[in-house]
Amino acid sequence: MEGMKPDTLAVHAGRDDLEALGVHALPIDLSTTNPLPDITRGGDSYEALATGGRPIEGGSHVYARLWNPTVARFEAALAALEHADDAVAFASGMAATTAAILAHTSGAGQGKHHVVAVRPLYGGTDHLLDSDLLGVETTFCEEHEVAASVRPDTALVVLETPANPTLDLVDISGVVAQAGEIPVMVDSTFATPFLQNPLDQGARMAMHSATKYLGGHGDVIGGVIACDESTAEALRRVRAITGALLHPLGAYLLHRGLATLPVRMRAQQAAAGRVAKWLASHPAVEAVHYPGFDGGRGRDDRGLLGEGRQQRGPGAMVSITLAGGFEAAQAFTSGVRLFTHAVSLGGVDSLLQHPAALTHRPVAAEAKPDLGLVRLSIGLEDPEDLIADLDAALARV
Ligand SMILES: *Cc1c(COP(=O)(O)O)cnc(C)c1O
Repeated sequence: MEGMKPDTLAVHAGRDDLEALGVHALPIDLSTTNPLPDITRGGDSYEALATGGRPIEGGSHVYARLWNPTVARFEAALAALEHADDAVAFASGMAATTAAILAHTSGAGQGKHHVVAVRPLYGGTDHLLDSDLLGVETTFCEEHEVAASVRPDTALVVLETPANPTLDLVDISGVVAQAGEIPVMVDSTFATPFLQNPLDQGARMAMHSATKYLGGHGDVIGGVIACDESTAEALRRVRAITGALLHPLGAYLLHRGLATLPVRMRAQQAAAGRVAKWLASHPAVEAVHYPGFDGGRGRDDRGLLGEGRQQRGPGAMVSITLAGGFEAAQAFTSGVRLFTHAVSLGGVDSLLQHPAALTHRPVAAEAKPDLGLVRLSIGLEDPEDLIADLDAALARV
């Protein structure tokens, strides 16, 4: 599959063993345990898998907390799309982020317990890093403050681009340069591997809440991290020990969903561009936040956006600031009919939500989104119907 284009990889990657199995569609392996050839090879298999390695020749998968072929196929496909050696899938995006922190800090990180995090971040990530649940100390900073925030005991730098919910772009290679030797993890959920490959910019890990665009149909929770082989081993070891597994049925749905990721992203992005443009002309809308779009506030994406750049296209998430603040947001979010007023994003149907009250509720006051900000996830509906729905809802503001 080396050198093939994203549309081809999305359909074919991670399916190398299907022909030998005599099947065409992805099989689902639900076994929780696996027969052992003999005690020695069973024990060697256990040893290899529990320390984060891959199955050994002539061995066994032993137990589904250690290895599952359906999950491994999805991981191989995602790794190919991310130009990565490997990928490791988890029960959710938050489980993936937790594993990345655990794999680099405390015992696994030679006593390092400091994380640098570039704000804004998804509220759950901000909450996790701000809590003392994992025994790490976090310095939150702005993009240009990373070098100044790094310490001798810094284990990891975390950033999200496009950031949630402002859709600001963060310069990945710039942050990697500031971080020096310290590994950088990029939450690339909004961009997907179709629009952005953080490893090509020098990041150590590309993390996705697979719940969003990768699944694309709002029916599976999962997370995945694409990375090099040794980082994958460290992540699999944490997964084997702590057990935050992606279920094989979820992995099947995610792998199936990957096949249509490029066509979904192209269509949703095109619709989002039209909706953003229309929103910018509405008097109730003070600003439109959409990568590369200057309809609201003359935004400068510093050359990070476009073909051959960090992010190949603007994506399908649009945020707006309503001139009428919280009251306007209340009326607007309750006034939609075609859009669903609900958290989450990235599915085939359009959703909208109020970040300050919902997804970014746990975030500290100084990092809270504007009270008039509403975040829209544009789906596959006809943009004219979406605009008509937004027009009716904005009329109530
Ligand atoms: C949803 C989301 C997460 C968390 O993922 P879950 O699958 O809900 O655990 C992390 N980052 C971003 C950008 C998200 O949108």
